[in-house]
Amino acid sequence: RAKTGGRNGIRFFDPEMQASVSARTALESELRRAIREKQFVLHYQPQVDAGGRLTGAEALLRWQHPTRGLVFPDNFISVAEETGMIVGLGRWVLETACEQLAAWAKRPETAHLSLAVNVSAGQFRQTDFVNRVLETVRQSGADPLRLKLELTESMLLDDIEDTITKMQAMKHHGLSFSLDDFGTGYSSLAYLKSLPLSQLKIDRSFVTDVHTDPNAAAIAKTIVFLAQSLGLTVIAEGVETEVQRRFLDENGCRDYQGYLFSRPLPLDEFERFTVKREE
Ligand code: C2E
Ligand code: MG
Ligand code: MG
Ligand code: MG
Repeated sequence: RAKTGGRNGIRFFDPEMQASVSARTALESELRRAIREKQFVLHYQPQVDAGGRLTGAEALLRWQHPTRGLVFPDNFISVAEETGMIVGLGRWVLETACEQLAAWAKRPETAHLSLAVNVSAGQFRQTDFVNRVLETVRQSGADPLRLKLELTESMLLDDIEDTITKMQAMKHHGLSFSLDDFGTGYSSLAYLKSLPLSQLKIDRSFVTDVHTDPNAAAIAKTIVFLAQSLGLTVIAEGVETEVQRRFLDENGCRDYQGYLFSRPLPLDEFERFTVKREE
């Protein structure tokens, strides 16, 4: 594995290759094959409350590449989106997540957990998206009340009528929605109140700089206040230090996700983590 930087430290095409057409074509065909052969796995990153109790997880996609090892989403999600492959990939993610949620419901130490799943714009815009989601939930036997879809600002504002219709239909069946990477998109506060959201997720960039950059601190505080005012919960992503956690706690944030608590874990490690927490 080449450790050449990138958000997760792994990048399997260097920037020059990435720019070249042939590398892009190769990646596309490998990705197509990977979807066909299901070379993917979900990792689960714990989410905890103010008392440090485990409340759920975010499902994060990884590609188990036959020769390159574990490949992180930043290396292939955008290509999957541009080529439309995200639709098939997203279906697999949702099916796998729902099956996992249904399995957790059967065990006392995991029965209380919720699971958050990332959704791309190309997936959400599919005309049969709502029916697919509801059918997947139904077939898996997962409790829709424990399934949370993570959406982003830009994808929602793209066609606000369609967005509201779809979200309301899913909410009606018990699903809830978290606004991911909040604060980085085109924050259109006017739309925020018309969307049936249940949670804002403070983007990692603000959390990271919370005690070094007064502006980041101000934004983080404002997001917490905004969530409270709108009757939404708020979770901070990318919490890495106790200082960050304390700042957020002092400003009313009650839910956290980040390396301070745990990295995203393969299923078996996540399940060990849940048992450990209960002891
Ligand atoms: P995201 O949804 O904002 O997910 C959070 C990302 O931050 C994850 O990166 C996670 O590993 C990372 N992270 C969590 N805590 C910390 C921390 O304390 N410090 C640092 N430095 N990073 C932290 P990951 O897993 O590489 O995913 C990157 C992005 O790829 C996700 O950002 C999401 O936009 C996308 N993605 C991941 N899985 C899926 C999926 O199943 N479907 C779709 N459509 N997108 C996905
Ligand atoms: Mg997310
Ligand atoms: Mg996020
Ligand atoms: Mg983010």
